Amino acid sequence: MTPFDVDLFVIGGGSGGVRAARIAAGYGAKVMLAEEYRVGGTCVIRGCVPKKLMVYASRFADEFHEAEGFGWSVGETRFDWATLIRNKDREIDRLEGIYRANLEKAGVEIVDSRAVIEDAHTVHVLKTGARIRARYILVAVGAHPTMDPPIPGGELGITSNEVFHLATQPRRILIVGGGYIAVEFAGVFAGLGSRVTLLHRGDKLLRGFDEDVRDALGEAYRQRGIDLVLGRTLSRLERTGEGIAATLSDGSTLTVDQVLVATGRRPNTKGLGLETAGIAVDEVGAIPVDAYSQTITPSVYAVGDVTNRANLTPIAIREGHAFADTVFGGKPTIVDHDLIPTAVFSTPEIGVIGCGEAAARAIYGDIDVYKTAFRPMKATLSGGKDRVFMKLIVEKATDKVVGVHIMGHDAGEMIQLAGIAVTMGATKADFDRTVAVHPTAAEELVTMRTPVVVKKPEAVG
Ligand SMILES: Cc1cc2nc3c(=O)[nH]c(=O)nc-3n(C[C@H](O)[C@H](O)[C@H](O)COP(=O)(O)OP(=O)(O)OC[C@H]3O[C@@H](n4cnc5c(N)ncnc54)[C@H](O)[C@@H]3O)c2cc1C
Repeated sequence: MTPFDVDLFVIGGGSGGVRAARIAAGYGAKVMLAEEYRVGGTCVIRGCVPKKLMVYASRFADEFHEAEGFGWSVGETRFDWATLIRNKDREIDRLEGIYRANLEKAGVEIVDSRAVIEDAHTVHVLKTGARIRARYILVAVGAHPTMDPPIPGGELGITSNEVFHLATQPRRILIVGGGYIAVEFAGVFAGLGSRVTLLHRGDKLLRGFDEDVRDALGEAYRQRGIDLVLGRTLSRLERTGEGIAATLSDGSTLTVDQVLVATGRRPNTKGLGLETAGIAVDEVGAIPVDAYSQTITPSVYAVGDVTNRANLTPIAIREGHAFADTVFGGKPTIVDHDLIPTAVFSTPEIGVIGCGEAAARAIYGDIDVYKTAFRPMKATLSGGKDRVFMKLIVEKATDKVVGVHIMGHDAGEMIQLAGIAVTMGATKADFDRTVAVHPTAAEELVTMRTPVVVKKPEAVG
């Protein structure tokens, strides 16, 4: 008789945990999965999916306005926040049902409870008190938004968890942060007609992205009427008769109806009992793992945001799948974290794969840079103000395209396809011999012929 109740206990029913559980069960493993909130995890319940639905909602105002140039009379338009939230919630409920059904169909036992580790092979299910002995434990507990450092009145702010459930649309909103979540919600609320102030301690948005993209987004957001307050932080929040008064680090104040803090996320490892299995977390609370997602304790693995490698849904899913293939499928599999196509659903949208210019110069030395910025064809009649920006970075020695950066309508869709070419190791010559699709914006990706001349920094001394 086996000394274990299950082959695999998965803690966390999000992107990584659900995939791992289903695939492991498909290999014949007996699997139990604990979820303390809602099956589907951050992405489905309060991340990618509801956010993208709100992004869609926010873009209709432009469309209504731009239609006039094409002869349409749209008439009076009105946006109803309650309808959007209600319809979004219905869709999230539907998706959660599908996730549950798929797990059950695969034979996974779901327990709706918080679970904590008690030793290298034991999980305590808090709701039932059961102690489950597992051959393997997979920690897939994700991360949560933080409001660091704490400030007086900080409790008046909300995070991305609450923003999806606001009873009313804020007329004035202060969004704190310069990462993709802050930037995306700034675009959403501006599109829906709120007055948006985006406060970021850095001098540009989207740290880590190519500098040209950062500049282009800043310019586009200013043009859209988003008030960018850079190089400052939030010091204090106070409730007043007028709303919430926010005091910034330079002593200036502004009054708004909501403050959304999107300054960072931390892994959900507090109180998880990792130490009972001999696992220590790193300085941000993430679980260190090897290339197979195995922790220092051989029976315990971790995937997704809790490992803080690349905090994106497709990566959590891949890591979960690779774990199941490795441990239950007899196919040791490593997830490559090097070339990850990604999108920022700002308006205008951003799509990126590979290195920015500065990083490429540091890694490859000699590079060619191709850039173009243009008014999209639709704007000629619509009068739309957004421009399209594209940039290719090519390693001179091999002619390989090592970076593609796009800002403009549907950049997320474009980068998924460009990502295939770059992942295959396409050269600039491959891009050049690809016939353009005309008339599109994407054709510019294969018609840039002349590299920009980059001034070399003058020698010092
Ligand atoms: C606002 C927002 C927008 C995003 N947009 C995108 C996007 O556009 N594209 C993209 O790729 N990524 C996006 N992400 C990131 C994406 O959501 C995460 O990378 C992904 O969900 C990580 O999956 P995971 O399985 O690691 O964790 P999660 O999906 O967070 O799942 C972890 C689950 O574990 C549960 N849990 C935690 N502790 C316990 C416990 N002790 N017991 C039981 N259950 C527990 C949690 O309730 C949660 O359901 C976004 C994130 C946010 C916050």
